[in-house]
Amino acid sequence: MAFRCPGCKSMHCVIVEGTGRPRWSYNGDADAPTFSPSIHVSAPDPDAPRVELARCHSFVREGQIRFLADSTHNLAGQTVELPDLPELN
Ligand SMILES: [Zn+2]
Repeated sequence: MAFRCPGCKSMHCVIVEGTGRPRWSYNGDADAPTFSPSIHVSAPDPDAPRVELARCHSFVREGQIRFLADSTHNLAGQTVELPDLPELN
């Protein structure tokens, strides 16, 4: 599963099948997905490459993304609607 994150504007991949790691649990509901544990992404910040890593830390619960306060983007601390997920084949 992958979605375009409205916070850090990049794609986040959540692996819910297979035996590889990392792997997330998924409630199987494409309309109101819940993933566990949290999604935590660090990437060089193109606007400030020498300062620090851009960080995006979020929980997806029942179709909503809750961004934790340690995220470095504008949506830190807020909860927003998850964009539509592509169909699982
Ligand atoms: Zn993100």
